[in-house]
Amino acid sequence: MPFRASVLTLYPEMFPGPLGASLAGRALERGDWSLEARQIRDHGIGRHRAVDDTPAGGSPGMVLRPDVLAGAIDAAVRPDDERPRLLMSPRGRTLDQGRVREIAEGPGVLIVCGRFEGVDERVIEARDLEEVSIGDYILSGGEMAALVLLDAVVRLLPGVMGNARSGHAESFENGLLEHPHYTRPAVWEGREVPPVLLSGHHGAVEAWRREAAEQFTARRRPDLWAKARGDRS
Ligand code: SAH
Repeated sequence: MPFRASVLTLYPEMFPGPLGASLAGRALERGDWSLEARQIRDHGIGRHRAVDDTPAGGSPGMVLRPDVLAGAIDAAVRPDDERPRLLMSPRGRTLDQGRVREIAEGPGVLIVCGRFEGVDERVIEARDLEEVSIGDYILSGGEMAALVLLDAVVRLLPGVMGNARSGHAESFENGLLEHPHYTRPAVWEGREVPPVLLSGHHGAVEAWRREAAEQFTARRRPDLWAKARGDRS
C-alpha cells in the first residue's frame, strides 16, 4: 500500500500546491503516494456551516470547534487506520529529520491544519492529536506547515528519489550538518575547489568531508555538535 496522506483544512485548494511539481509531483502521478485534501467546512454547523466560534473566557479571534473537527477527523479515518494523527501547531514538538523518517516508514499520515487562534483543546485530547511545529514563529494557518512536513516525508519514500541519495549522509542524518559542495569550474572568481576533492583519492575525500562537516557543525550549530559528541562517547 503506498503512503497515504489526508489533510483536513479550510483551504483544500492549497493542495497539492507545490507538491504537485518536481519529484513529489511525479511521485504523486506515479501513485508512489496519495494525497486527499478534505474540507473541514463540510462538517460545519447549520446552514452557514460554521466551523469556529469565539474563545471561552473572551479574547480576540476565533477558535475551531471541537465537534466540527472531530466530525472531519472521524470521516477521514478508516476503522483499521494506523496512521499518526497530527495537528500542525506552534506549541508542538519541533519537527526534525528523525520524526520525518518515522512518518515516512509508516502507512501514511493524517494532518489537521489549524486556522484563526487555533483549535479547541478538547479535540486534541479526545482524538489524541500529536502537535507538530515547524519552528518558533507563527504562520497564519497549518497548511504551509503541512506542505513542509509532507515535502520532507515524501522525498524519503521508496522510489521517489531513485537511488540518487541512498547511503548519502545528508545534514542531520548523522547528527551533523553536511559538508560543503563544489562543482565546475575548478577555479571561479579566483576561488578554487579544494584540491583534495580533485585528487581522485577516495579515502582522502571522505576524511576531508568528515572534517569539514564537523567544523561547520561545531561553528554553526553548537547544540548539534554537543549532542553528536555526547552520542559518540
Ligand atoms: N494563537 C496560536 C497561533 C495560531 S496560528 C498561538 O499563539 O499558539 C493558526 C494556525 O496556524 C495554528 O492553529 C497552526 O495550525 C498553524 N501554525 C502556526 N504556526 C505554526 C508553526 N510554527 N508550526 C506549525 N503550525 C503552525
